[in-house]
Amino acid sequence: MNRFAIAQPKTYEQAQALLVDERFSLPVLKGGGMDLVDQMKEGLIEPDLLIDVRQLIPTDAQGLAIPARTTLADLAQSRTTHEQLAVVAQAAASAATPQVRNVATVAGNLMQRPRCWYYRHAQFDCLKKGGDTCYAVDGENRFHAIFGDGPCHIVLPSNLATAFMVCDANIHLMGGDRESIHISELYHLPDQGVSDEANLQPDEIITHVTCRGGPNTGFYAIKEKQSFDWPLAMAAVALQMNGNQIDDAQVCAGAVAPIPWPLPKVGAALRGVNIEDDAALKAACAHSIQGAAPMSENGYKLKLLPIAVRRAVLVASGRDQEAV
Ligand SMILES: Cc1cc2nc3c(=O)[nH]c(=O)nc-3n(C[C@H](O)[C@H](O)[C@H](O)COP(=O)(O)OP(=O)(O)OC[C@H]3O[C@@H](n4cnc5c(N)ncnc54)[C@H](O)[C@@H]3O)c2cc1C
Ligand code: SF4
Repeated sequence: MNRFAIAQPKTYEQAQALLVDERFSLPVLKGGGMDLVDQMKEGLIEPDLLIDVRQLIPTDAQGLAIPARTTLADLAQSRTTHEQLAVVAQAAASAATPQVRNVATVAGNLMQRPRCWYYRHAQFDCLKKGGDTCYAVDGENRFHAIFGDGPCHIVLPSNLATAFMVCDANIHLMGGDRESIHISELYHLPDQGVSDEANLQPDEIITHVTCRGGPNTGFYAIKEKQSFDWPLAMAAVALQMNGNQIDDAQVCAGAVAPIPWPLPKVGAALRGVNIEDDAALKAACAHSIQGAAPMSENGYKLKLLPIAVRRAVLVASGRDQEAV
């Protein structure tokens, strides 16, 4: 690992000044450091300054605001989050292990880099690292995307990104020209730039996230090892219920595309469905794989995704016991 300095600014203004400080060739923001330090150990990134932003508290946050420095554990345990943003609390609780959740932050979770093993291995100079080949195409691709069309086939690993999509979340920023962007604008597909995943400028810092709350939201992730793995497929759902009938639904899939993957056709198909009519529910959820193009080893995600969506709908409607 390279040598680096660490700074602990007291204000966002100080943090932003350090981000553009010309004495440093690569200053980077550090939340919990879970992903950043992993990348440094692999030699994927060699920052000479880590700017620890965990002390910073946004002063202008209003409404249902989640500070960027909030740990996943705090988010998962917060009574307000459970009551008003259950999908976010469940997504946070489902990510990683208790040890990781105690350290990892909201902004770090959103900005974590992909888990593609060719990307993570210093010996592979794939497209994402400036090479000319995506090794996943003819190689090991069982954890890769079934949507998104390449040329890089990563999946976005963030649970929170998927959950925030159904809460109409805004990502609040400081440092650049923009005050906030909608969560759907935070990431881009690989054909719009393969070297990074997010649409943040180098001098922009996430300060907090604001969300629209609601009573009927739910999250479900299917993993190889349910206790700590990154999901193979996940789904987040926000419902408007009228008794047992679904009047409206927002649905987003995760771990199946390089960005959080909205499923508007599932949302449309769920309208009017009685939650107790499991055949109708399954038929609506089957729309989730429309347009999917699996790779050589990840066709199994076509089976998992409709299941994850159905279970998220059941959780959102309060039928957690049936989501097994
Ligand atoms: C065993 C294991 C299992 C895991 N399973 C899951 C899982 O199932 N689901 C899931 O979602 N995640 C999972 N994770 C990932 C984990 O949640 C992330 O590593 C973690 O969220 C990163 O958070 P951090 O605060 O440590 O970020 P850091 O490592 O500190 O930073 C990550 C990135 O975010 C940037 N960043 C940090 N703060 C800001 C800010 N305020 N503004 C802009 N950029 C910023 C950093 O510069 C860096 O690029 C797992 C991790 C491990 C180790
Ligand atoms: S999927 Fe993306 S990160 Fe993985 S090998 Fe292909 S180009 Fe590289």
